Amino acid sequence: MIRIAETHAACDVLGPGTRFVVWVQGCPLTCRDCVSPQWIPAAGGRDVPVDDLAARIAGAPVDGLTVSGGEPFAQAGAVADLITAVRARREMSTMAYSGFTIEHLRRRGDAGQRRLLGLLDLLVDGPYLAHRHADLRWRGSDNQRVHRLTDRHPPLADDRGAGLQFEVTAGGDMQWLGVPPVAGFRRSFENAMGRNPR
Ligand code: SF4
Repeated sequence: MIRIAETHAACDVLGPGTRFVVWVQGCPLTCRDCVSPQWIPAAGGRDVPVDDLAARIAGAPVDGLTVSGGEPFAQAGAVADLITAVRARREMSTMAYSGFTIEHLRRRGDAGQRRLLGLLDLLVDGPYLAHRHADLRWRGSDNQRVHRLTDRHPPLADDRGAGLQFEVTAGGDMQWLGVPPVAGFRRSFENAMGRNPR
């Protein structure tokens, strides 16, 4: 089982190409600036069988899989199992976000965390820090780095432009995903939409 918060089957702004995104539930780092605090408690979200989720991902018309959160490396064994199960069905690009630095994961990571690192093409590391907010590709603050862990994807030719994707849900609500180019976007957007900021 893997504990997830949300999924999206066609995201164009969290990694190269169009990607299936899995946001896992639970993060032990509890950063003050976290833009998704509802996904910090490990008790939230829902448990889903790894094989069922892998079948959905492999069957989606996407170029790759991105795992965000929450903290993917807090349940690294389950995420590694998910990637392995996806690739048993279909080869695809893999990317993950982590609040841990890559140096921490390499030096102090457990076996599951090192196994997950070994399955990734791209890693964005470090927590989001509002005072270092920047308009950068796929990440929100300039402490966060994009690590190419394989040669599958070329180095970024243009590192500017975080990218946002807007959609109207089946219920008629407007939603967004991606990384806002300006700090405080979420609160402003949700105020404008007449919702309570999360
Ligand atoms: S590491 Fe990321 S997901 Fe976890 S609390 Fe910090 S900002 Fe939020």
